[in-house]
Amino acid sequence: ADDAPAIPRIRKSSKLADVCYDIRGPVLARAKQMEDEGHRIIKLNIGNLAPFGFEAPEEIVVDVIHNLREASGYSESKGLFSARKAVMHYTQQKRIAGVGIEDIYIGNGASELIVMSMQALLNNGDEVLVPAPDYPLWTAAVSLAGGKPQHYLCDEQAHWYPDMDDIRAKITPNTRAIVVINPNNPTGALYPDAVLRELVDIAREHQLVVFADEIYDKTLYDGATHTSIASLADDVLFVTFNGLSKNYRACGYRAGWMVVSGEKRHAQDYIEGLTILASMRLCSNVPGQWAIQTALGGYQSIEELIAPDGRLTRQRDLAYDLLTAIPGVSCVKPAAALYLFPRLDPKMYPIEDDQQFIFELLEEERVLLVQGTGFNWPTPDHFRLVFLPHEDDLHDAIGRIARFLDQYRRR
Ligand code: PLP
Repeated sequence: ADDAPAIPRIRKSSKLADVCYDIRGPVLARAKQMEDEGHRIIKLNIGNLAPFGFEAPEEIVVDVIHNLREASGYSESKGLFSARKAVMHYTQQKRIAGVGIEDIYIGNGASELIVMSMQALLNNGDEVLVPAPDYPLWTAAVSLAGGKPQHYLCDEQAHWYPDMDDIRAKITPNTRAIVVINPNNPTGALYPDAVLRELVDIAREHQLVVFADEIYDKTLYDGATHTSIASLADDVLFVTFNGLSKNYRACGYRAGWMVVSGEKRHAQDYIEGLTILASMRLCSNVPGQWAIQTALGGYQSIEELIAPDGRLTRQRDLAYDLLTAIPGVSCVKPAAALYLFPRLDPKMYPIEDDQQFIFELLEEERVLLVQGTGFNWPTPDHFRLVFLPHEDDLHDAIGRIARFLDQYRRR
């Protein structure tokens, strides 16, 4: 009969057994269903800028349209020369030494390249140090490639900087690489040079590849500046990721890049692996590649959003003030990026399953967040909130969260 439970005959590959990406997981599926039923959901779950009125700079849009006719053929696998040249100049501005055109790969967003970088490196059982909390694609990409993510803690008591003792304790003979997400998603941390230097020292000592995710390197508040970790050494292999999604508000163009730098001499075999994988997917979306030179060459335009009275700064400040005014909610104020990662005092909010908690918030208040464990945070006492909505909507949403928490406390 039609309602008999289906026998799971066509099963997903066992390679996916440990792969998980909760940002687009079951709670989002429920939110979509509620929207289909006609409910308005306030979505504070995904760092997608366009729906909140943050548009890609006009110059980029115009140039993509202008070049569309040139974009119907495949490009070189590593990407258009003009795009890679612009990235090369960008690495010079960031003081990453010795980067040539051949060291740059353009991809369908940083995401595709992150997956490629792990597929090219890992044998089954190889370990990669990944921060906790992390942007969960990193953990998923390590697992998909047969590797074992080893999560090192970032310390909320110390601005969410990496805990060096924990990193050292988790290094084994199988450790191949360390992932550094700076500026960080979900915590909003921006690492000072001293922290970056310590990470480089560890990588050098244990011959680890450093994977540096710097996709928020221009989304900085309070006049802060960003140092690329790859600028700090030439005797460690660095693979640095960036793209147009966040700093240029062009997530949908799927335009990102990966730069190999530092100790390349001993990494030729790995680099060949990267090139093979880039060739297998022929090339990345060419219209998106045409945006890169314009974006990197021109007026950077994020400046007005992150100025002291800029829209992103105001929304960050408001979201921080409103959240930390709720009893039992504390938060490190983000120095960068688009997220807050607040802590719920477990004495006041004894949450056992934070996905269930987020689910109930959605059902009761129609606000969508992502649970902290979705970012591989070990305990169910955090959530991530995206501060992209306008101030009125943030007031409304955080008011609903406060009401929900008030009732949760009284249960
Ligand atoms: N890295 C981090 C830290 C991110 O937050 C994101 C997207 O949210 C990505 C990478 C993926 O970006 P892209 O759109 O370039 O694939």
